[in-house]
Amino acid sequence: MNKTPILLSILLLAVLPVFAQESEIHTLEQNGKFYKAVEFEVKPNTFYTSIDPQFKASSLTFETRLSNTLHRAYVLLGGTQRFDLKKDDHNTDALQENAARNSNQSSELYLSSDEFSFFSFFSGDISGTVRVNLMYAPPLKIDKNTSSKKKDLTDCSVKPESIDQSIWRQGLPDPKGTPQETQVKHVILHHAAGSNTETDYTKVVRNYYLLHTESNGWDDIGYNFLVAQDGTIYDGRDGRGICEDDNVLGAHMCARNVTTMGICLLGNYDVANVFPTDTSLLSVEKLVTWKLHKEGLNAFDSSLHPTAGMLGTIAGHRDGCNAGYTECPGENYYQEIYARVKPDVDSMLRNCMPLGVNQADAAMQATIYPNPASNYFDLELHSTADRLEIFDASGKIVLRSALTSEHIQRISTSGLSAGVYWVKVYDKQAFKAIRLLVSEK
Ligand SMILES: [Zn+2]
Repeated sequence: MNKTPILLSILLLAVLPVFAQESEIHTLEQNGKFYKAVEFEVKPNTFYTSIDPQFKASSLTFETRLSNTLHRAYVLLGGTQRFDLKKDDHNTDALQENAARNSNQSSELYLSSDEFSFFSFFSGDISGTVRVNLMYAPPLKIDKNTSSKKKDLTDCSVKPESIDQSIWRQGLPDPKGTPQETQVKHVILHHAAGSNTETDYTKVVRNYYLLHTESNGWDDIGYNFLVAQDGTIYDGRDGRGICEDDNVLGAHMCARNVTTMGICLLGNYDVANVFPTDTSLLSVEKLVTWKLHKEGLNAFDSSLHPTAGMLGTIAGHRDGCNAGYTECPGENYYQEIYARVKPDVDSMLRNCMPLGVNQADAAMQATIYPNPASNYFDLELHSTADRLEIFDASGKIVLRSALTSEHIQRISTSGLSAGVYWVKVYDKQAFKAIRLLVSEK
């Protein structure tokens, strides 16, 4: 995102063969104060001044409706912020699936530092009808310190701290449709291809929500999670009580979303010398570690995706689509996935069980018998507990069970082969780990 001072913009205009022109603007659709789509006709190499959509907006995208290229086109917001138009495959996907839309491609989302109700536009190579999607997300301040940042970093079965959709979506329209569940085998890493300078991350997430739901027409935001440059994790697509948020089928990978969970890192890493921050990568790694642990997946494994071929349990967006289809997650993030994220997650998965055992909570009292067990054991609780997980010696989860309030509960081990296991009994943050031997049946 280039921010060119007004003086430079004027100089650029002075040397280009352009003339300022008024253009008739038509409203295509509107949803209250949140969304408005307008269109107007453009000729190439023409500067259009002060286009007035009569709508207070915080962000916009451009679409072309013919086989146009966005090359050399740019928009000026508030007179001083210049954005060179660049195609974003995430949005173009959505439009090309919608035949009625008749759109060929969409730009990235351009977020304004201030609300705007007019913009100027240079058409570059574009000729014909241009559609502009205007989003308005009212400002929202979240006190991120209300929830404790402290958590057991060594226990990868605890989901990292995140901001629930009900918090960051306040004041915006509800998601639509019914969430669909998918059994996740691949965690797909994206970048937003958006601003590298905006630090109001809640504002960024809210504008993507409006882009995805209002302009793209999706039921909910496309990703399962979004991670900000400061490491803040935002819950994305909402399971709405029908399924868990990390298992909701999203909209983020070239219509091949089944068996995937999408995590979007805010920012654009296809820009020279812009790299993901250490803090943001650590949040991504903790989120991925938690999910892989939960699903019993390994960081370096691959498996067959129904339509994308062999795909890593951790993969970049581009890995799941046809070659050359998308730059996402940007070269500078893509390299980090292989150089850093996968090894780190692998290491965190290997370490989480032994460290977790050492730091078990003394307040949690539970015993199991018989031990060694053959086809079952009884769990006797002397304090409250709500769930139980059994891990094999490599730290891979092999059984998960909800617990009732019964004092003694019978757990079947008939599906477990002979060997050493760890039984973890949880009550919210507290847990106890018990070594279990399963004997030959
Ligand atoms: Zn992507």
